[in-house]
Amino acid sequence: MGEEGGQQGWRLSGLRLPLDHSEADLGAALCRRLRLAPEQLRGWSLVKRSVDARRHDQIRLVYSLDVQLAELAPALLKTLSRRWAADPQLQPIPDDRYRFPLAPPARPQAGTQRPVVVGAGPCGYFAALLLAQMGLRPILLERGKAVRQRTADTFGFWRGLRPFDPDSNAQFGEGGAGTFSDGKLYSQVSEPLPYQRKVLEELVAAGAHPDILTLHHPHIGTFKLATVVRGLRHRIEALGGTVRFESRVERLLLDPLDRRVRGVQLADGEVIAAARVILAPGHSARDLFATLQQQGVQLEAKPFAMGVRIEHPQALIDQARWGAAAGHPRLGAAEYKLVHHCRGAGLDGRSVWSFCMCPGGLVVGATSEVGMVVTNGMSQHSRNERNANSGLVVNINLDDLAPYGDGPADPLAGVAFQRHWEARAFALAGGDYAAPSQCVGAFLGDGAAGGGGPAVIASYQPGVVDCAISACLPDFVSAALREALPVFARSIPGYAAAGARLTAVETRTSSPLRIPRNSTTLESGNTPGLYPAGEGAGYAGGILSAAIDGIKVAEQVALALMNQPMG
Ligand SMILES: Cc1cc2nc3c(=O)[nH]c(=O)nc-3n(C[C@H](O)[C@H](O)[C@H](O)COP(=O)(O)OP(=O)(O)OC[C@H]3O[C@@H](n4cnc5c(N)ncnc54)[C@H](O)[C@@H]3O)c2cc1C
Repeated sequence: MGEEGGQQGWRLSGLRLPLDHSEADLGAALCRRLRLAPEQLRGWSLVKRSVDARRHDQIRLVYSLDVQLAELAPALLKTLSRRWAADPQLQPIPDDRYRFPLAPPARPQAGTQRPVVVGAGPCGYFAALLLAQMGLRPILLERGKAVRQRTADTFGFWRGLRPFDPDSNAQFGEGGAGTFSDGKLYSQVSEPLPYQRKVLEELVAAGAHPDILTLHHPHIGTFKLATVVRGLRHRIEALGGTVRFESRVERLLLDPLDRRVRGVQLADGEVIAAARVILAPGHSARDLFATLQQQGVQLEAKPFAMGVRIEHPQALIDQARWGAAAGHPRLGAAEYKLVHHCRGAGLDGRSVWSFCMCPGGLVVGATSEVGMVVTNGMSQHSRNERNANSGLVVNINLDDLAPYGDGPADPLAGVAFQRHWEARAFALAGGDYAAPSQCVGAFLGDGAAGGGGPAVIASYQPGVVDCAISACLPDFVSAALREALPVFARSIPGYAAAGARLTAVETRTSSPLRIPRNSTTLESGNTPGLYPAGEGAGYAGGILSAAIDGIKVAEQVALALMNQPMG
């Protein structure tokens, strides 16, 4: 039992209940499972709730709960303790609280320069928040605008009311690339629990719904995200940090002798001195990547993925996932995750997978450059739009990049590759930021996998043009998608129906490069004082992992500032 003498401290996982259970049913099931009388149970708190829908006729909610016991006789406690210690679904409640590397507030020596953070995405915001919480008063520099003005620019562009703004769009501005998104807060990689908990608790403190702390697949939703990023900014500022918008970092200032970072220079020429710079500019900071390359910062190309967005009626996905229970208020809009490893001629080593699936959402224009078309998806917290959408992407390997740069070793070859296909998509759809779009039936041609149904109306803003989308995709991407779609229809009937809608191109799946860093200090391989971080540097692939990387990098900056203050 727990150290507190056994009165509390156990976590039960895997408690399964039917969809329509009450709170009393949950208590009764818990007592049965633990073989306790109701008066022996003081209470419980929810840790996680997930859905097991493997059998449509037996959909279950699966609970993980922390159990609090009433005062029990020591002999009984001992018996329970022995029994539960041997139960694989019971464990002492783990201590997953986040602990600062230095007791805040840290007190750097007088004259220590304030650390600079580049980019106000989840990585930069969490790096700045942690530094601020440790008393290190970061200066955060963001090229885009504060979320309110950014929302007006971005939604204005999508609705055809404002021109495209290369510094204020779906990628750039307060909150980073995920501000107008589904706000999914889970990661493919299993992140350490204290870091996950720190991020989720800070998001709740900044205005997110507390259910993100307990849902298995939590998400925030677009409009709520805008409130949350504003909340994070206010917390950073209240702790002595500074957040500056419309402050694009153009270049690093490097010591000519040892390449040590001395600060950054903004696009308007202003110089900000700093000995520690966290670089979290996201995967779309192409101009900055080019400058870093000119400045000799180590960069390397990295594989990524590209493809299209696919849309179906959300009802089709709900039906496939939940069967007769579709529409049940405890289930919400269904998600899916699909993978296919290709077997066809010329497709060796290619896979197709669903990426960033947005239940009940919209497809949106996510370019950050003039003359390009890029798709991505977003949802509101309610996820109640008519269509489900998801990226459907194919792996792009370093060999594929050879024709686009100075060989596969060119760190910017992936950027050139992305630009090539984004520009093709732009031109194909008429050159006014509409996106090329095609129904699955037409895309598959003779290989159509059956199932008609009306054509799904593309939700992409600012609009689509019906055309043969293979003209803006590498041949192997089209071939891989053609092979995968009928296979996916075996898991989700109707997935490859003629009316399902494809919109191109989805290129910004992850960074096409990595900025190597020391695995302990997290400093750039050849530029001391520079801390590459987040998705753009190749160390994260989503909101949660980017935020966690920001925290880890901030910890290292704090330790460095305290150990070797530099003025
Ligand atoms: C439409 C959309 C939907 C998405 N949906 C989800 C989702 O549901 N769940 C999920 O986990 N992930 C989602 N993602 C991906 C997620 O947003 C990213 O993985 C995450 O934001 C990466 O965080 P980051 O802080 O590393 O970089 P970013 O969020 O890209 O932030 C980088 C910031 O740096 C700024 N910047 C760039 N260059 C400079 C410069 N030179 N000077 C100053 N500032 C600069 C940018 O303006 C930007 O604000 C989505 C992305 C998009 C575009």
